[in-house]
Amino acid sequence: MRAVVYHGPGRKAWEEVPDPELIGDGDAVVRVDAVTICGTDLHILKGDVPAVRPGRILGHEAVGTIEEVGDGVHTLAEGDRVLVSCISACGTCRFCREGRYGQCLGTGGWILGHKIDGTQAEYVRVPFADTSTYRIPGGLSDEEVLMLADVLPTGYEVGVLNGNVRPGDVVAVVGAGPVGLAAITGAQLFSPSHIVAIDLSDARLEAAKHFGADVIVNNSRQNPLKVIRDLTGRLGADVSIEAVGTPATFELAVKAIRPGGRIANVGVHGAPAMLDLEDQWIRDITITTGLVDTYSTSTLLRLVASGQINAKRFITHHFGMDEFDEAYDAFARSADTGALKVVLTRRGDE
Ligand code: NAD
Ligand code: ZN
Ligand code: ZN
Repeated sequence: MRAVVYHGPGRKAWEEVPDPELIGDGDAVVRVDAVTICGTDLHILKGDVPAVRPGRILGHEAVGTIEEVGDGVHTLAEGDRVLVSCISACGTCRFCREGRYGQCLGTGGWILGHKIDGTQAEYVRVPFADTSTYRIPGGLSDEEVLMLADVLPTGYEVGVLNGNVRPGDVVAVVGAGPVGLAAITGAQLFSPSHIVAIDLSDARLEAAKHFGADVIVNNSRQNPLKVIRDLTGRLGADVSIEAVGTPATFELAVKAIRPGGRIANVGVHGAPAMLDLEDQWIRDITITTGLVDTYSTSTLLRLVASGQINAKRFITHHFGMDEFDEAYDAFARSADTGALKVVLTRRGDE
């Protein structure tokens, strides 16, 4: 088969590799029908994730069809259409029993395209298939479901639910990339009074408006703190969701909230960020951090099926699987291309 193989910082290739085979009893081999690229894959290609070794097949999001299952797989059979989630779960360890699958102690967690070969391939081996894939309800397209592999549960769980968004809240979302847009999507389920999107890119802010933000702030030109204070009688937002991953945006997310407010950090950070505890200790704030667990995937599937969430609007670009180079390029140059999420499908299957 062919797959996107990582060859060290800055180098990858769509090349011939051996087909995956079942290793554990709980494994499934899935034929990949639709696959996407994550901002994290770009981090890997920059060399920011050293756990990914040269030779690794990238990718942790896919929709596909079961080809083969191990003897220990009880709920799936050849021919089933499944969502392959970015998080694998052994299902039995202490953290899996608490729904904290991202922290799985039984060799699950974020492993696809990280510690084991991933989904940017014609076929992928998925360990713990019963608890790491989701059968797709009839009537849902591959593309609608693909967004549930990572961005939607991430924005919803680590942003909206950790931030405890309540009806009437003013929610500030720092960063309007796919994850920030997923947080904007999820926040609306709780009827906030305002959603303020903050980004440096006008194109991303236009997307944020389209996704449901009613106030947009380009912080290369405007002061987001002033906008939020003017909107909230000088108090600050009830919740801020950090969806960038830089010291400056974390610090902005902290300054943006009212006393008693909540800061939900979603961004992956590569450097220390400042917490001005000498000012914050008195303000009753809550800060949460997290890796997505994907405990909300079934809920989100129902919301997509009922039309409450429009998952398709994340997808701006379509490619065939043999166009991975073009797809990576369009995704990496999102400021020029306007890309949010790109989708690659088997040739002729679109
Ligand atoms: P992205 O790079 O596509 O989007 C980030 C957005 O932030 C861009 O639109 C960019 O213009 C904007 N931005 C950059 N600097 C800014 C600044 N100073 N002020 C305002 N906006 C700024 O990334 P994404 O795919 O949307 O992911 C967002 C973050 O979430 C990343 O750090 C990613 O690694 C992380 N992530 C976390 C988890 C998790 O489980 N916690 C899962 C997936 C992704
Ligand atoms: Zn991802
Ligand atoms: Zn586990």
